[in-house]
Amino acid sequence: MIYNTYFQRFFTFMTNTFKNLIPFIIIFMPSHVSAKWYEHTFNTMGTRSHVEFWLNADKDKSVNTGTNEKAAHLIGQVVAEMKRLDQSMSPYIDSSELSLLNRDGGTKEVSVSKELFSLLLEAENISVMSKGAFDITYASIGYKYNYREKIRPPQAVIDMALPLINYHGITLNGTKSTVKFVNSAIKIDLGGIAKGYAIKRCINILKSQGVKFALVSAGGDTSLLGDRNGRPWLVGIKHPRAEEKNAVHIPLENEAISTSGDYERYFIEDGKRYHHIINPKTGDSARKVVSVSVIGKDATVVDALSTTVFVKGLDDGMAFINTMPEYEAIIIDNNQRLHFSKGLQQ
Ligand code: ADP
Ligand code: MG
Repeated sequence: MIYNTYFQRFFTFMTNTFKNLIPFIIIFMPSHVSAKWYEHTFNTMGTRSHVEFWLNADKDKSVNTGTNEKAAHLIGQVVAEMKRLDQSMSPYIDSSELSLLNRDGGTKEVSVSKELFSLLLEAENISVMSKGAFDITYASIGYKYNYREKIRPPQAVIDMALPLINYHGITLNGTKSTVKFVNSAIKIDLGGIAKGYAIKRCINILKSQGVKFALVSAGGDTSLLGDRNGRPWLVGIKHPRAEEKNAVHIPLENEAISTSGDYERYFIEDGKRYHHIINPKTGDSARKVVSVSVIGKDATVVDALSTTVFVKGLDDGMAFINTMPEYEAIIIDNNQRLHFSKGLQQ
């Protein structure tokens, strides 16, 4: 047991030390130790992803090699699932289903996979619930920003294109599984919801193969299966203005948490921060708060809700979350003060 702990600490130390140097790390416990946490960090969906799970060796007669093989197989499946979804939903891949829809959606009814269709339906539901704070057609203007190159559209362009941000401009035909845009200048993007969906899928893959304790994350989205083998998982919420620091740690089990922050992709011009979360009403970055985390069971919804509450800001966003007993929020305001929704206040 002491040996175990020693190894776990050692590997945690090694991971922390080298995680910025080595993009791909697979850590396996040595075969003579029956320690059973496995983890892997990799790049996908334009961000860093991480999977971590506990495998029980006891049932397996060929104990350690058998377990290592199973772990490698599970990790392979998680990586493949993330890559598959990236291939289908990335706006940066010309052949993705999303890109093809953006290319043709304004001129014809486009047949899409059941999977993409379902996600578009979920996005639409959240648009309705949020009264348009969450809107995947934000991309009609959002795609005119380039945060890396510090490019933003001139106000005149925003004014012209603003009516295009409107989820009512997308027609979803459930019988035919087709999508049509009312205007060919409408663009959609799933950046506010796809990572949540992807980690939910990955957790389900692990669960269906007998894993009881797991964490899968992609950027600011994390989904948890069970606890950390007897203790809750401790998920850090990044400090919005101090890289490498956490503002708070939240103990969680069997939940998903998603953080939306104005520090992920941004540039500053004339003292103003232009970042990747767009207020559909203005076509400009949402600036009422600096960070929003949402907690709940469904990783897809949680992802979309963190973006939604970010757009709504402290008062409206908190009121909105407090109408949904199954979701909680932690908001960091512009003065870096923390605010907790009703269910987290005890
Ligand atoms: P990330 O983990 O990528 O930082 P967030 O959950 O914070 O994601 O969502 C931000 C992403 O959501 C943006 O990069 C963009 O793709 C998309 N997005 C921005 N504004 C909106 C909006 N108003 N409604 C829906 N999606 C949005
Ligand atoms: Mg989100």
